[in-house]
Amino acid sequence: VVNYAPFTLLPSAVPQALFEQAYAVQQDFNLLVDAISQNKEFLEQTLASTIKVDDFTARLFRIYMQVLEEGLAQTVFLGINRSDYMFDCGLDGTAALKQIEINTIAASFGGLTSRTADVHRLVLKVLGKTKEASQLLPNNPAKGLALGIAKAWELYGSQSAVVMFLVEEIQRNIFDQRCVENELWNKNIRVIRRRFRDVFEQGSLDGSRRLYIDNQEVAVVYYREGYVPQTYDQQNWEARLLLERSRAVKCPDIATQLAGTKKVQQELSRPGTLEKLLPGRPEAVARLRATFAGLYSLDEGEEGDKIAATAIADPERFVLKPQREGGGNNLYGEELREVLQKIKDSPERTSYILMDKIKPQPALNYLLRAHSPLQVSECISELGIFGVYVRQGQEMVLNKAAGHLLRTKAIQHADGGVAAGVAVLDTPYLV
Ligand code: ADP
Ligand code: MG
Repeated sequence: VVNYAPFTLLPSAVPQALFEQAYAVQQDFNLLVDAISQNKEFLEQTLASTIKVDDFTARLFRIYMQVLEEGLAQTVFLGINRSDYMFDCGLDGTAALKQIEINTIAASFGGLTSRTADVHRLVLKVLGKTKEASQLLPNNPAKGLALGIAKAWELYGSQSAVVMFLVEEIQRNIFDQRCVENELWNKNIRVIRRRFRDVFEQGSLDGSRRLYIDNQEVAVVYYREGYVPQTYDQQNWEARLLLERSRAVKCPDIATQLAGTKKVQQELSRPGTLEKLLPGRPEAVARLRATFAGLYSLDEGEEGDKIAATAIADPERFVLKPQREGGGNNLYGEELREVLQKIKDSPERTSYILMDKIKPQPALNYLLRAHSPLQVSECISELGIFGVYVRQGQEMVLNKAAGHLLRTKAIQHADGGVAAGVAVLDTPYLV
């Protein structure tokens, strides 16, 4: 079944200063994620409590350690991430840019959203708003992401090697991926699409750990899958290990995937942590910290006891987050209270973090979704900035913001993105 991607009828107002702030901090986030991915001690310490209780993170972590022990064959590193924000409305009515999370694996909608501004430009013209239509910014993350993949492919240094998109068993968002794929074909880079299952059945490494699938050498593995536990049976875990051990450029490598966990995000907000990870870069640290909302550890001990009690008393102030991606996993309000009440004295508590709830100012819009009735809704928006970087050995050869994504949802949904069927694609109208 082919459906159109859901979108808002009208672009949504976004404060220009906050939009620019989000772009201005993206290179810092790229550097930060890359620094974490190279810092074994930090990852080990930060995830120590989590991996005791969260099997999925533990499994990823085991592969990470195994690959480090063997020694990395990979020398070129490619990061594609998306840092997501909401505009938190203060008591005095001013809005502040607050990060929701950073996605370091399979950050999607860069392809489809490269077309969204055209849609909204047309709608505004139909409405007779020609001047407003001309003010919508161009936006092409598909091109930016492909540029990063192409650079990594080039540095890998084998003309005949391919880029492999690692895709889902059941492909729900193929057209988003095709937009990036087409940009690569335009650069005469071959792209193949394979599932973990295919890697298990057809994948192999040669003596210098070059990766081959169906006798084709793979230069870059671009994961659009692999971030939820349900993906992995024993064979798929073996396939993941094979990929990670290989010389191919993984986007992301397993260390970078771990750098994107909610637990890492929470530890970053501790005083002094950013300074340690980015020594000698006080301006970058200040820009990063300005986007952080309140984040709290639920590790065993006094600090965790105290914040758990506060959240049970006032659940509307917080979001309770497990180490999961893809939307629909967080807990809010009464449900947050119930779950926290139940686990507050058990080690299970440490598989979650707490975060201050961001409260944006709602605005009216129409959400257009296939087979759904059209009605005006009170909506809030989430801005994502795509980041791309390539590192060869210790040298950063590319570090860019590659475009943006605006997603909008009705306020009755606390959680969930576009793939979860809650949010729709939007275009920022800067005010
Ligand atoms: P996931 O990895 O599942 O995407 P997120 O942290 O992005 O997890 O949360 C999913 C959604 O929940 C977000 O897109 C946002 O709509 C909502 N959300 C998450 N954190 C907050 C928060 N602190 N305040 C308000 N809404 C939030
Ligand atoms: Mg998210």
